[in-house]
Amino acid sequence: MNDLGKLFVISAPSGAGKTSLCNELLKTYGNLEYSISYTTREPRADEVDGKDYFFVSEKVFRKMIENDEFIEWAEVHGNFYGTPKKFIEDKLKSGVNILLDIDPQGARQLRKRLNFGIYVFVIAPSIKELEERLRKRRSESEEKLRLRLENARKEVQFYKDYDYIIINKNFEKAFNELNAIYIAEHLRSKDVKKIEDIVNLEV
Ligand code: 5GP
Repeated sequence: MNDLGKLFVISAPSGAGKTSLCNELLKTYGNLEYSISYTTREPRADEVDGKDYFFVSEKVFRKMIENDEFIEWAEVHGNFYGTPKKFIEDKLKSGVNILLDIDPQGARQLRKRLNFGIYVFVIAPSIKELEERLRKRRSESEEKLRLRLENARKEVQFYKDYDYIIINKNFEKAFNELNAIYIAEHLRSKDVKKIEDIVNLEV
């Protein structure tokens, strides 16, 4: 039987640079896959259905909740977002590591529900910097941008729910930190069942 894959859960207020960090990690490791969430949010100009998200109507989303198809779901910035349960279960069982990019409400639900997972929180060094990044991105209307900033202020209070915190002031440094977490989590002694399987003890 395969060893179970590891579940990396990353959360960050919008604009903290989480997407670039996740993409870099995914490029670096072949045995790491991104879990594509379902959302009722409208796609942004550069987003592709089935790659960034599965974009669905609220009716479809509610039906999926009813059918217990999400391992977690939450309402974030006025839209619904959810992680497909079967995808996660199948991948982890086949030994693939999974990267989830979900909000703090979703991370909290998962922590309660599962007794495994590595939880990483990424934050920008200040709300001011967050605002500058969001403005540069130009993906939101003024009203939605304000809502995201307001939510960011609330979301940082959730930091205690996470195992690790990365302050993303500089991309390279932040990525090195994320990479260090990924590597260290693969060196945990608790994940080794029998030392003989990894070390030749013959003298
Ligand atoms: P965005 O609209 O900027 O793509 O994402 C908004 C927020 O929703 C981000 O904090 C992102 O992490 C979160 N999010 C994306 N997918 C999921 C999901 O499946 N579940 C939960 N709980 N949050 C999600």
